[in-house]
Amino acid sequence: MSLSRSSVKDLLREITGLFKENNIDEAKIDASLILMRQLGFTKTQLYSRDGYVPDENQMRKIDYWVLKRLEGRPVQYLLGKTEFMGLSIKVSDFVLIPRPDTEILVEEVLKISSERGYKTGLDIGTGSGAIALSLAYYNKTLEMTACDISEKALIIARQNIKDYGVKVRLVKSNLFENIEGKFDFIVSNPPYIRTGIIPTLDKKVKNYEPLKALDGGEDGLNFYRNITASSLTYLNKNGMLAYETGYDQGEAVSNILKENGFKNIEIKKDLAGLDRVVIGFK
Ligand code: GLN
Repeated sequence: MSLSRSSVKDLLREITGLFKENNIDEAKIDASLILMRQLGFTKTQLYSRDGYVPDENQMRKIDYWVLKRLEGRPVQYLLGKTEFMGLSIKVSDFVLIPRPDTEILVEEVLKISSERGYKTGLDIGTGSGAIALSLAYYNKTLEMTACDISEKALIIARQNIKDYGVKVRLVKSNLFENIEGKFDFIVSNPPYIRTGIIPTLDKKVKNYEPLKALDGGEDGLNFYRNITASSLTYLNKNGMLAYETGYDQGEAVSNILKENGFKNIEIKKDLAGLDRVVIGFK
């Protein structure tokens, strides 16, 4: 494939068309993001300077990214960043791309933390650091600790935390293995996809995102069972456990919390009315 060298306006139309033909959901957004980054244009310039014809070098780079996107690589990995809670979050192939759905978890935790005056929080399996970072950014009194089993994920989390200068302590840890002390709340968006479902996921997810961040075992609930049982040792009295869950896992995860003695358990739905967050108190 090679795009013809033409104006931004024509390129935007051509690339969007190509993406649509290949069933890429956000065809126009992805086409716009690729052009903006490779040309150094803002969103406004994409329209106000739409007669601009990229030079040969710019054209080569645009071509290359369009090809990569057509192969399935998510645009966020091409750009090396995404937006989450209004913040710019760096990503690499070694971290899950933060999803808009996860903002529901962060907003819920922010609300309850300020109501209850929580001071300390632990984010398990932080990946890019998006959850811990945005909690610390929007509530400057919080002292966050965030852990991940992957050193390569922690490299990205470290950069994100540095970019925003927030108070987040990073620990390399397989779940609670290297965690010390107690916390007012524990938050996690653990891997929760059932192993058998993974081959049916969109190729941009199953071929590019780290499987370790997605695979929750045979019934998708392995991490909820492990984290919930151990969390009792690490939570202060009246502390909160808050999870993101899969769209059909609210009841199963609530039951795991109940079996471990958690109280006031609640399921929060996302904008589509599907289960998204489960919260309980020690
Ligand atoms: N929400 C992600 C997806 O649908 C899964 C994230 C996870 O397993 N924690 O691909």
